[in-house]
Amino acid sequence: MSSEDQERLESQCSREGLQVSRAHLHRAAIALGSNLGDSAATLRAACDRLREHPAIALQSCSSLYRTPAIGPPQPDYVNACAVVETELGAIALLEELQAIEQAFGRQRLEHWGPRTLDLDLLLYDHEMIHHPRLQVPHPHMTERGFVLLPLAEIAPPGCILSPRKAS
Ligand code: ADP
Ligand code: MG
Repeated sequence: MSSEDQERLESQCSREGLQVSRAHLHRAAIALGSNLGDSAATLRAACDRLREHPAIALQSCSSLYRTPAIGPPQPDYVNACAVVETELGAIALLEELQAIEQAFGRQRLEHWGPRTLDLDLLLYDHEMIHHPRLQVPHPHMTERGFVLLPLAEIAPPGCILSPRKAS
């Protein structure tokens, strides 16, 4: 994170009454997907939400990729990945991602069905997390070119697939 970004995060967090220091920051990778409505605009707006979030510092957003859907017949997806730094814990970060999904009208009607916005937590530092609401690394990420290609575009070297501890 640049010192400018660090200062911005610290001043935003301080306005929110949060204490933040570089030592408490975690790095996370997020997959973004959409295949309902203006998906490209939705993904750009979702990146803006991450950029503007007081407890999340957006490091980079990949290009947008158009990919065929898996699951039931449905429109193509637009996919992207983002890398962020945050002092939020992994579950708190998941909850923020789900709140952003909701803000874009996400409905869960059908498994792997069409969606206005899907935000999946791919990686959180180098942790392996097995929680009823959260599996990290995301269990399907290595099977999905639409995840790996945008992630490879922006991921810091060594960040992919080197988990080292379970929590
Ligand atoms: P999918 O992304 O697989 O199509 P959903 O977005 O509907 O499915 O998410 C279903 C549930 O998956 C969520 O309620 C969430 O608790 C859980 N989940 C488990 N691991 C993760 C993860 N790494 N990222 C996002 N959601 C996850
Ligand atoms: Mg999801």
